Amino acid sequence: MSVADYEVVIGLEVHVQLATRSKIFSWSSAAFGGEPNTHTDPVCLGLPGTLPVLNRAAVDSAVRLGLAAGCTIRRRCRFARKHFFYPDLPKGFQISQFDEPICDGGAIKFRLHGEPHEVALTRIHLEEDTGKNIHAAAGVSFVDYNRAGVPLCEIVSEPNIRSAEEAAEYVRAVRSLVRYLGIGDGNMEEGSLRCDANVSLRVRGAAAYGTKAEIKNMNSFKNVRDAIEHEVKRQATLLDRGERVAQETRLWDPARGVTQSMRSKESAHDYRYFPEPDLPPLVVTEQQLTDFRAALPELPEDRFARYTGPGGLTPQDAGVLIADHEIAGYFDAVVAAGAPPKRAANWVINEVLARVSHIPDLAFDNPGLEVGPSALAELINLIEDGTLSGKLAKDVFARMWTERRTAGDLVKAEGLAQVSDGAALEEICKRIVAAHPEEAARVQSSPKLIGFFVGAVMKETGGKGNPKAINDILKRLLGS
Ligand code: ADP
Ligand code: MG
Repeated sequence: MSVADYEVVIGLEVHVQLATRSKIFSWSSAAFGGEPNTHTDPVCLGLPGTLPVLNRAAVDSAVRLGLAAGCTIRRRCRFARKHFFYPDLPKGFQISQFDEPICDGGAIKFRLHGEPHEVALTRIHLEEDTGKNIHAAAGVSFVDYNRAGVPLCEIVSEPNIRSAEEAAEYVRAVRSLVRYLGIGDGNMEEGSLRCDANVSLRVRGAAAYGTKAEIKNMNSFKNVRDAIEHEVKRQATLLDRGERVAQETRLWDPARGVTQSMRSKESAHDYRYFPEPDLPPLVVTEQQLTDFRAALPELPEDRFARYTGPGGLTPQDAGVLIADHEIAGYFDAVVAAGAPPKRAANWVINEVLARVSHIPDLAFDNPGLEVGPSALAELINLIEDGTLSGKLAKDVFARMWTERRTAGDLVKAEGLAQVSDGAALEEICKRIVAAHPEEAARVQSSPKLIGFFVGAVMKETGGKGNPKAINDILKRLLGS
């Protein structure tokens, strides 16, 4: 059999760090980084006699995420202790949720190959992050507890994903949603969004799922895709040989492009889950749900629908713009400042995005932004009213970006306005035609020569002539 004879079954567990100021059960900073072991307190270090107190902001974030994903929010739920031993988990258990997650069901919506698509969720639950083991040279390891107790939402999908590409798009959509809601930065490189992929194969048409392997350590969308593609091939080879897939956790090694066995997978009973006795049940009121629902921002898919409405943008352009809420917000502000949407989309995608390496810099209240939305709108309108040609406008934009000057200022100070003045252009055209009688005589038989004349006139105007006006005048003069 070949890979094509198997159906790929994937379920993803995505961990999202919530950008709260303090940790989920204590007061030290939840910020990323910092000198090792400086963002700590007795609770997150698991010192005896300390008690957890639930961070309201973490609950709010989980509820908003759940509402945005169409989950059912439990009005009352509990936390549970999940036991395992690892040096980065000082208490010997992680406070998580087990049989009563805060959110049930729901779905993540996105587009796949341009078509609307959704992946059903099993649940979203709240838990605390662990610290970090740092394995140094010579067999020495260090532990940094700055991350211990940082609030996490774990988003668990149903095993309904059918390809590596769909999995990567799903993770992208989760990240986009988290950023739209402003509950986290979704940065995969820094580990504030982490993804575990459960992968199994079954012969097409089979009812039962095959044994799954869980893959960890994928810190980019590309890694998610590459790791799953590799894992599918590995499992297909095993099954073809009549061997079995082991139920285990595997690590993706991006440098070598392979997954490697890390440990055999625990089952739920290995964790000895039981209700956390130090925390009261978590209650969410109907009023809170109503308030949060009313305050949800416009979500990526709604924005997509708005952008692609009648006379709107192409799905491709809309897809690029909605990917990040900063990009979409910037685009909206350019349009609000008076630029026509299609032209604004072109400029944002081809010129602005080509120059920003850090998307959050596009937040339109960022004073350090090289070209703000209203400055771009001004430039676009100078093209609209014929003052600048598209080519000149690109040069002006490059200077706006580096010199931080406005389009109006550059055009005025540098005399950059396009020459559309008919009389002036006519005068130049006549001079050029008179200077090249031979070529003028041959234009009738070889029409391509008109390009030669346009080029010469353009040169004369220092690149500022309006190409359409020049063409029209030359055609008239040359009778072509
Ligand atoms: P475990 O108890 O091993 O953690 P869960 O039932 O909690 O397994 O599921 C964890 C994730 O694995 C979920 O996202 C789920 O959709 C996915 N999953 C479950 N069974 C399979 C399977 N046979 N193949 C692929 N993914 C699966
Ligand atoms: Mg599980």
